[in-house]
Amino acid sequence: MHADSYRHRGLRRTLVAELRRKGIHDERVLAALATVPRHLFFESAFQEHAYQDKAFPIGEGQTISQPYTVAYQTQLLDLGRQERVLEVGTGSGYQCCVLLQLTPQVYSIEYQPVLFERAHRRLASLHQAAHLFCGDGSLGLPDHAPFDKILVTAGSPNIPRTLLHQLRVGGALVIPVGDAQVQRMMRVVRESESEFSREVFEEFRFVPLLGKAGWQG
Ligand code: SAH
Repeated sequence: MHADSYRHRGLRRTLVAELRRKGIHDERVLAALATVPRHLFFESAFQEHAYQDKAFPIGEGQTISQPYTVAYQTQLLDLGRQERVLEVGTGSGYQCCVLLQLTPQVYSIEYQPVLFERAHRRLASLHQAAHLFCGDGSLGLPDHAPFDKILVTAGSPNIPRTLLHQLRVGGALVIPVGDAQVQRMMRVVRESESEFSREVFEEFRFVPLLGKAGWQG
């Protein structure tokens, strides 16, 4: 079951060509998506769905993000080779694994214990060494801050201040912000200790960010 194959690599190449046509242009990001075996983040009965450009249920009412969304967010992050990145919403662990292709310093936090355990086992079996945590990531990971980059993979009602203050100066937060139905991708750069600039990008549909700074706050 934990096998990659010539056929899977071929399917990934086709998927990457599709992402390129849809506007993803960062070669490092495309190479990362060509490397990570997305089918191994699915239960075996559903592996056939892994190389369509679609989100898919992973249990607990959550989804593995669409490959386009993963590529889009990763491209906006513009990760340097040694940058420390925090992902909020580990989910399946797929996005986390994509980040690990770009930097060894990946921290990821998941709210739901069942998903945390599963992602932990899966990444270990793939020999992927991320720093995984279980808890409310809407508050970030204060003990491990500051981060160069923070990526939120669930839809947030606003831009959590706690996350902004865990960025180092020059660092950036990528986060979908909106209501429960639709969100706009935003990138907030920490220009100085007290100044932030923000850019607004395309619309997406994410599952809701839970927790204190999310929809339960
Ligand atoms: N990056 C994931 C996408 C998962 S969907 C992947 O590649 O598969 C979003 C995830 O965010 C869900 O697993 C959900 O449980 C989690 N989540 C929601 N609110 C959270 C919070 N406050 N802290 C941490 N994780 C959260």
